[in-house]
Amino acid sequence: MKKHNYSAGPCILPKEVFEKAAQAILDFNNSGLSILEISHRSKDFVAVMEEARALVLELLGLEGKGYQALFLAGGASLEFLMVPYNLMKVDGKAAYLDTGTWANNAIKEAKLFGETLIVGSSKAENYNHIPKNYSIPADASYFHCTSNNTIFGTQMKSFPNTDIPVVCDMSSDIFSRSLDFTQFDIIYAGAQKNMGPAGTTLVVIKEEILGNSGRMIPGMLDYQQHIAKESMYNTPPVFPVYASLLTLQWLKNLGGIAAIEKINEAKANLLYTEIDRNPLFKGVSAVEDRSLMNVTFDLENEAHQEKFDAMWKAVGISGLTGHRSVGGYRASIYNAMPIESVQVLVDVMKELENKI
Ligand code: PMP
Repeated sequence: MKKHNYSAGPCILPKEVFEKAAQAILDFNNSGLSILEISHRSKDFVAVMEEARALVLELLGLEGKGYQALFLAGGASLEFLMVPYNLMKVDGKAAYLDTGTWANNAIKEAKLFGETLIVGSSKAENYNHIPKNYSIPADASYFHCTSNNTIFGTQMKSFPNTDIPVVCDMSSDIFSRSLDFTQFDIIYAGAQKNMGPAGTTLVVIKEEILGNSGRMIPGMLDYQQHIAKESMYNTPPVFPVYASLLTLQWLKNLGGIAAIEKINEAKANLLYTEIDRNPLFKGVSAVEDRSLMNVTFDLENEAHQEKFDAMWKAVGISGLTGHRSVGGYRASIYNAMPIESVQVLVDVMKELENKI
């Protein structure tokens, strides 16, 4: 039986992506070759890379606006250091919003390059909300934030207005909601949530912000080199890029970000409504900052844990246990998660209430 997969990432992808990716492993484009054995310079794969890069900009509404999309390797974690390497001026500084573990990891790397100002932090409250009313120094090389905090279940609903470049780690909510994406100068995201399997990282860059740091940048870490080589500076992660393209095509056919946003809102609403209604459960993050992607919640009474855990496992739910730094439960309801699976979880929560 296919499980209802609530994993935070790698995570559920659309069924048709699994099927088409599986087929391409056996025979890619009726070529008599597997996607795993073809050259990344072959005509068929170059076409995959070109389409994937173009589709990213199309879905984000960034076509013809001076942006480039790259499919790199090294995870979102490599971007934690590529961003300061490429953007932080020598003797300059950068501004960071500290909203959780991943923001913190980005801050740690930035500190290796220069003065790193934490302009706002919710650390003291175990990151249960997004800091508000912070100010960003105009002389910083850039401002960095994390749009969705995968572990804590918080999500930025708006982004600051500033004249300096805005960099956003969108690993866990890319392609999930409509935003004016032109407010960002760099968006990066590991593929393994809303886009594809682990192994590639999407980086979307407004090209004009590059080349001003005054640093010598090693080729593999230099965004300008990757752009010049059309995301083929070295052998790209061929299969993750192909599977990502399949997911992007699925999203486009569905009606793009505006269409998936409605579905995501319905799923999150269904689950948060039950968390708020059911006296056995409570939400973890501040209501106004609740994530539409990672729903964190807990039992009011720990004594019910064993029963609840046995019940959700029995109906085929997997991956619901919260991250060790928060505890409780985390339901990751990414783009590919059907609302029917969310209903299964809500039904189990109601059933627990009836049994207690
Ligand atoms: N940023 C966020 C918001 C994440 O959720 C994660 C991974 N869960 C990362 C960064 C790190 O990504 P990676 O493992 O691809 O380096």
